[in-house]
Amino acid sequence: MLELRSVTKTYGSKTAVRNLNLECRPGEFVVIFGPAGAGKSTTLNLIAGITEPTQGEIYFNGNLLNRVPPEHRNMTMVFENYALYSHLSVFENLAFPLRARRMPQAEIKRSVQEIAAILQIEPFLQRRPGFLSGGQRQRVALGRALIRDADVYLLDEPISHLDAKLRHRMRGELKALCQRKQATVIHVTHDYREAMSLSHRMLVINQGNLMQFGTPDEIYHTPANEFVASFVGEPPMSFLDVHLLNAAGFPRLVVSGTDAQPVKLDLGEKAASTMTKSASVGTLRLGVRASDISLNMTLSETHTTPAEVYVVETLGHRDIVTVKIGKDLVKVIAPSGIGLDVRDTVWLNISPRTYHLFHDEQAVSHPVDEIRSPQGV
Ligand code: ADP
Repeated sequence: MLELRSVTKTYGSKTAVRNLNLECRPGEFVVIFGPAGAGKSTTLNLIAGITEPTQGEIYFNGNLLNRVPPEHRNMTMVFENYALYSHLSVFENLAFPLRARRMPQAEIKRSVQEIAAILQIEPFLQRRPGFLSGGQRQRVALGRALIRDADVYLLDEPISHLDAKLRHRMRGELKALCQRKQATVIHVTHDYREAMSLSHRMLVINQGNLMQFGTPDEIYHTPANEFVASFVGEPPMSFLDVHLLNAAGFPRLVVSGTDAQPVKLDLGEKAASTMTKSASVGTLRLGVRASDISLNMTLSETHTTPAEVYVVETLGHRDIVTVKIGKDLVKVIAPSGIGLDVRDTVWLNISPRTYHLFHDEQAVSHPVDEIRSPQGV
């Protein structure tokens, strides 16, 4: 088990990683996910031993690693611009970590061929790295990191240079390969699809701060705060400023900027019970995913929130329709070719079962809360 306990890394006045706690189980594929400058690479370097924590401890199977040099940690690392030996062929680059461990020649050959087949680099085994494309070199670097057995594999954007089709295929291969190895993998990416599809659990960080650590399912369906909610999902979650209206003890939400004709929304059981009086003081925001809501051309029992069509983007099999409610824009997925025009009025099903509610950027309720609650059924 790999553990980080209250790990902080500062560079002068800059805090790259702040008070990070993390436990990775054996065989677990953990993805560190966040925007540029979030502290992803620093976290990986701390685990590898390339960087020393300013505060906190790192353990592997209960042994303190802080003072253990990188070469004595049984870990391998690959990063985005990983240097290969330019004077050696691809075969020899891949064989290098195995030769260093005095593996018999026949076994080396078998291992190289196995990893080369997975990474689709067999045709280039005799070439030198200088004669490969960036994507091919990245696959060789990945192969060199994964070819030998290690306790922990540290992968920093290892497939980010590949074209979209190959990247998609490599995700599957990488997951299968790591599953076979049963080792702990820590993989850094800023691509949410990669993070979701690869990880058992993902750690979302921003500006050195842990935002959430959980399964892809938890991160997607129960984001801890607005940052996670807005950073995960495609198209990104839409947000509406709302305020609480507590008329005659019957609390409802009103979309800000709709004063002339107030757009009112029901408050779910969970949100109503969680929100205290102070909730009305802070900022309340409502988040909806395009795939969780739908639109109707007419008012119906479920589709009660009026909105004005702002723009329609065609994806072929469906459209992404952006509508305006008050001053805010909301994206909705709709069947393609339903003949919507800009400024048409449509009706949306924005309800406690389709929206996430945030107070002062922290989550108050999610659609799943309302679906699970007995009254919501
Ligand atoms: P990410 O990998 O998420 O893009 P990094 O871990 O590389 O982010 O960097 C996190 C923050 O720490 C950034 O603001 C970066 O400028 C800073 N940082 C990283 N390494 C150093 C360093 N060696 N010296 C000074 N600042 C650094």
